[in-house]
Amino acid sequence: MSELDDPHAELAAIAAGVRQHLLEEHDLGGAGLPAVAVPAPPRAQAAPARPQASLAAVTPAGPAAIAPAAASDKVARLQLLAEQAASCDACALHEKRKQAVFARGDPSSPLVFVGEGPGRDEDRLGEPFVGKAGQLLDRMIAAMGFERDAVYICNVVKCRPPDNRTPRPEEALACARFLVPQVQIVAPRVIVALGRCAAENLGVAEAAGPWRGRWGSFQGIDVMPTFHPAYLLRSPQYKRTVWEDLQKVMARFGFGPTPGGAA
Ligand code: SF4
Repeated sequence: MSELDDPHAELAAIAAGVRQHLLEEHDLGGAGLPAVAVPAPPRAQAAPARPQASLAAVTPAGPAAIAPAAASDKVARLQLLAEQAASCDACALHEKRKQAVFARGDPSSPLVFVGEGPGRDEDRLGEPFVGKAGQLLDRMIAAMGFERDAVYICNVVKCRPPDNRTPRPEEALACARFLVPQVQIVAPRVIVALGRCAAENLGVAEAAGPWRGRWGSFQGIDVMPTFHPAYLLRSPQYKRTVWEDLQKVMARFGFGPTPGGAA
């Protein structure tokens, strides 16, 4: 049994890690626990095209549409999905990809991060969040008290959009055949939606107005939407805002403070 399979061991490990990492939290732009909330500007992040429908209503057919998986089945079932994605041509994004990028991390993790889509480095290496944004995400995960590979990380679309543009609604809906069963199989306790694209496609954000920092739900799983690490690289003044969102996630696991706005 992994540490994250055991709730007591999981919480003990997280609590021990948090103490250490709070001391390193300056790396995320803060100095210990923030005392003052820093609100995001009304349009702090460019809005992508609005999806035609939330992926929350998508129920894929075929071998991916399966009942919640036992831990022993997860790896095999996710491997099957990854193999299907590798040869998928269901949307135009397959035309310029080097390879499909399915996921990384622990499929039994209680915590899943969903980003937007692979970038150039991810397309080249076949693993999500391995560039500079991925390195920042790794530091965010460490600051929360998790090991890098103890969480599960994937994207709305599995193939790189040209020029790293936001996935189009039809591309996100096409790739729901992978994202929806992927999340169902992992069955985490909490999803962190990284960026407005992920938040909209998971059905926890509207196309206009404030969207991050408030709990939503995707197929019964709690979702916390927050800024994408790539956005933080361009706008580091919002690192503390993201840290506040992540603290709400930590609180949902039973430790840490619950800053104002937590559900
Ligand atoms: S982005 Fe998803 S749906 Fe589109 S070709 Fe790639 S795997 Fe298939």
